[in-house]
Amino acid sequence: MVMNKQQLTETIKQQALTLGFDAVGIAPSQLLEQDKEYLIKWLNKGYAASMKYMHTHLEKRVNPASLLENTRSVIVVLYHYLPTTQQASQQYKIAKYAYTPDYHYVIKSKLQQLASLLPTENADIQRWFTDSAPVLERRWAQLAGLGWIGKNGCFIHPQLGSYVFIGEIFTEHELVYDTPYTHDHCGTCTRCLQACPTQALIAPRELDANKCISYHTIESKNEIPSSIAQQLKGYIFGCDICQDICPWNAKIVAKEKKDSPTMPYVYYSDQDWLTLDKKKFKQDFRHSPMQRAGYVKLIKNIRTVVEK
Ligand code: SF4
Ligand code: SF4
Repeated sequence: MVMNKQQLTETIKQQALTLGFDAVGIAPSQLLEQDKEYLIKWLNKGYAASMKYMHTHLEKRVNPASLLENTRSVIVVLYHYLPTTQQASQQYKIAKYAYTPDYHYVIKSKLQQLASLLPTENADIQRWFTDSAPVLERRWAQLAGLGWIGKNGCFIHPQLGSYVFIGEIFTEHELVYDTPYTHDHCGTCTRCLQACPTQALIAPRELDANKCISYHTIESKNEIPSSIAQQLKGYIFGCDICQDICPWNAKIVAKEKKDSPTMPYVYYSDQDWLTLDKKKFKQDFRHSPMQRAGYVKLIKNIRTVVEK
C-alpha cells in the first residue's frame, strides 16, 4: 500500500512509541544559521577545551544536506533513561546515563527499525544518528516541537525532563511537521547555574568545558586541574549536578526499561570501586558507556576523589 504524507507520518509516530521511544516529533530540514554563529563564537572562546572534534565538521553540524543530500525531514525521538535504581556507593558517583549499557547500541537498533518503515528505492534515502554524527540534536528536538534547551544546556521535555537520549532520522521523504517549541520554561530560575560547583555554566546555555566535571572525568586526556579536582563532589565519571537540581526533573517518575538492564557496577560498594582491577573492569564494564574513559582514567578519577 502506498501511504500518503499524513499516513506515513502517523505510522512513523505510532511505531516510534511501539518500539519503546518515549516521544517523537518531526521538523522540516533547514540550515541552522543562528546555531552556526553561536557555535563559531563558542569555539573561538576556547570553551570546547581539548575536544578538537568539535572544531571539525562544523558545516555538517548545521546543514543536514551535508550529511544527506536532499534531506527534507528530520524525525526526532526521545528515550527516557532516568534510572529506577540508585547507586550503592555513597562515595563514588557516576552520571545516570552510565547506569545502563551504552545507549548507542539500544537506540541505533530501534532507529534502524523505525527507518525501515520509510519506503526506499535506494540506500541513501535516509540516515539515522544518536550522538554518532555531528548533529545538533537538542536544536532538532526543539524544532520538532518536543521541548526547549534549558539554561544548563540540556534539552528538556515538559513531561520527561532532561534525562533523555535523543536520536534522529534524516530522510528525503516529506512528512507532516510539528510546530517548533518556542516557550522557555526556565523563566527566572537559575538553579543550575548556581549549583554547578565549578562555575562551568558561565551564562545561561553557555558551558565552558574547561571547567566542567563531565569533561574532565570523561573526555580530557590531561590531569584534572586542582581547582576542579577539589570540587568533583564524588563524581568519577560524568556529572549530573546541573540536571539533578532542575525542577523539571523533580517530579519525573523513572520507568523500568527492559532493553536497558542495570550495569553490575551500579551495585558496587565504596570498597568495590577502590579495589577495581583490570580483570573486573573487563568483565563488568562490557558495553558500558564508561569504556569511553577507559580503565586507567577511571582509576585516576577514583584516586582524585580519594585524595581530595
Ligand atoms: S555537568 Fe557538572 S560541572 Fe558540568 S556544568 Fe553541569 S554541574 Fe557543572
Ligand atoms: S535548573 Fe532552572 S534554569 Fe536550569 S535548566 Fe532547570 S529550569 Fe532551567
